Amino acid sequence: MKKNTQIVSLGRDKQFSQGVVNPPVFRASSIIFDDLAAMHQASKGKCDGQMFYGRRGTTTHFALQTAIAELEGGAGTALFPSGTAAISGTLLSFLRAGDHLLMVDSVYEPTRDLCEQLLTGFGITTTYYDPLIGADIAALIQPNTKVVFLESPGSITMEIQDVPTICDIAHQHGCITLLDNTWASPINSRPFAMGVDISIQAATKYIVGHSDVMMGCATANAKYWRQLQHNSYLLGQCVSADDAYLATRGLRTLGVRLAQQANNALQVARWLEQRPEVDHIRHPAFATCPGHEFFARDFSGANGLFSMVLKPATPQALSAFIDNMTHFKLGFSWGGFESLILWISGIEKIRSVTHWDASLPLLRLHIGLEDPADLIDDLARAFERFHLAQP
Ligand SMILES: *Cc1c(COP(=O)(O)O)cnc(C)c1O
Repeated sequence: MKKNTQIVSLGRDKQFSQGVVNPPVFRASSIIFDDLAAMHQASKGKCDGQMFYGRRGTTTHFALQTAIAELEGGAGTALFPSGTAAISGTLLSFLRAGDHLLMVDSVYEPTRDLCEQLLTGFGITTTYYDPLIGADIAALIQPNTKVVFLESPGSITMEIQDVPTICDIAHQHGCITLLDNTWASPINSRPFAMGVDISIQAATKYIVGHSDVMMGCATANAKYWRQLQHNSYLLGQCVSADDAYLATRGLRTLGVRLAQQANNALQVARWLEQRPEVDHIRHPAFATCPGHEFFARDFSGANGLFSMVLKPATPQALSAFIDNMTHFKLGFSWGGFESLILWISGIEKIRSVTHWDASLPLLRLHIGLEDPADLIDDLARAFERFHLAQP
């Protein structure tokens, strides 16, 4: 099955859908059993898609989990109440006191904060590595290195990693490889074919796709699925049936949304690239994006999220640019159907081993499903305000 067919079909088995198109919302804390024998029977299947206790999910959850596991190409998927919970829950499921973690320097900022503000107190040490390190990651692996964490492209600065090479070396040293695969979504890369053991998604973004649900998921290969499933259960991680329903509904249009948003984003990015105010574009499909060659090799498509790096500008000019936009809204959580813009300052403070030139302002754009001509007009007017504020 091709991806677009999978997106529409997966998780719609009759056991989940009961014969309607969308697997219905089964809200439950308590599951009722006919008799002791039935309870005993359900207990045997409680980890494998049989309803047993609310926290283990209902058919609404199983439909979504089945679909994502198969789309990502893993053995099973655990659901979490946010992308951040998926990251913390997965790290806590595999790290113990005394372990060492290798973390990519361009990681999502809350993941870095987790390492520095919580994991340190549990006796887990973190070393950051350059996203473009490739095979040189070998030199950073210590006898107690347990997990190598990747995120590709990186948050904000968008460096693309050589995922297969890093995973290969990590495995040679017995490490587990975790990838924050949110940008690719479950359809634009093949994490398990690249050697990833556990692929994490902020489902909040493109899976949900409508900016109205927080959710995360972690999909593991056969080697690590049971440990992930068991430990995330111990940590009490679960999501509501209503949210699972909305995520499944969002998933059904993931293919067309991503294709259209990627197309719109390319048009906008190409227009921006020609502007004299722009230093360069950080979009994985552009040669100016560090690691672009790995995007060309490992991804089958893009999406609406990219950054543009401007030439030095005053804060007044940047405010004039961003304030009073018509279509672009000022907001953080991307992956919905709408366009967003952010000025991200202080990047140099959330990087330890890579250099960021603080004199170059970075604007992160998320391109939605609006007509790109309207978005380009909006940006053209923003540049006019920018120049009036910075003569
Ligand atoms: C948004 C995001 C997260 C966190 O997801 P939440 O659901 O907001 O907690 C994690 N990783 C990446 C790459 C993200 O963009």
